[in-house]
Amino acid sequence: MSRIAYVNGRYLPFRDAKVHVEDRGYQFADGVYEVCEVRGGKLIDQRRHLQRLVRSLGELRIRMPMPLAALGIVMREVVSRNRIGYGLVYVQVTRGVARRDHAFPTPEVAPSLVVTARSLNQSRNEALAAKGIAVVSVPDNRWGRVDIKTIGLLPNVLARQAAIERGARDAWFVDKDGRVTEGASTNAWIATPDGKVVTRAPDQAILQGITRSVLFEAIKAQGLAVEERPFTLKEAYAAREAFVTAATQIVLPVVRIDGHMIGDGKPGPIASALRRAFHRYAEAG
Ligand code: PLP
Repeated sequence: MSRIAYVNGRYLPFRDAKVHVEDRGYQFADGVYEVCEVRGGKLIDQRRHLQRLVRSLGELRIRMPMPLAALGIVMREVVSRNRIGYGLVYVQVTRGVARRDHAFPTPEVAPSLVVTARSLNQSRNEALAAKGIAVVSVPDNRWGRVDIKTIGLLPNVLARQAAIERGARDAWFVDKDGRVTEGASTNAWIATPDGKVVTRAPDQAILQGITRSVLFEAIKAQGLAVEERPFTLKEAYAAREAFVTAATQIVLPVVRIDGHMIGDGKPGPIASALRRAFHRYAEAG
């Protein structure tokens, strides 16, 4: 079965799914995106992801390409046409197609919209979570508005590649004060030796992850203490547990940071319990 993508009003086989060479996403990374998990054929936390898309677009003054409810239907249709049981749906909106010039096009052009979906391997993801992952730290050299989910991901691309070349799975960005901001495509968390769960507060230095927000409900329901504050790499090396969160990973235990073993080097009980509990607090539709 050929994969189907939605491109500017049409559902197309992948080989025909193309955007213009002067699309501002291609030229300038002038656009934003969202990724939702698909589980049991349902979209997880679609409402919250669309809310964040609206915010990202608003921050960059890009128009919504269609009403929110219609976009929700297109996402669902792409999932269904690709027969995704477990996987992800990806939405990208750019400022549109215009002759190359940095300033916004005048008159305004229609934003471009692309929606794709693909299957993920659930047993492989479960195996990864059961084993835990290694991360390495890299300097956070991104711009000052990473709270906006833009498609400008070059530092993230280079960080992830550096991680792989150093035998790790993810990279953690570290600010100039030695404090962890977030992962290359995840939010970063630790559990302190006295069992408090710590993650950075949502400022402009991190993306406010949807998984992160929903996980707070699971943390509270489990009666765990939680602190929203920055933590240093040094604190992370000495943590009882560490983990990352993202829509397609849920909660993924971290067992090694820069070669330092975290806890006993195995996924800890807090991360494992939060991973199991997560979908009780997420919306499925
Ligand atoms: N931080 C960054 C830089 C990301 O790219 C992502 C997800 O892509 C996240 C955090 C996690 O966000 P969410 O839980 O909404 O997937």
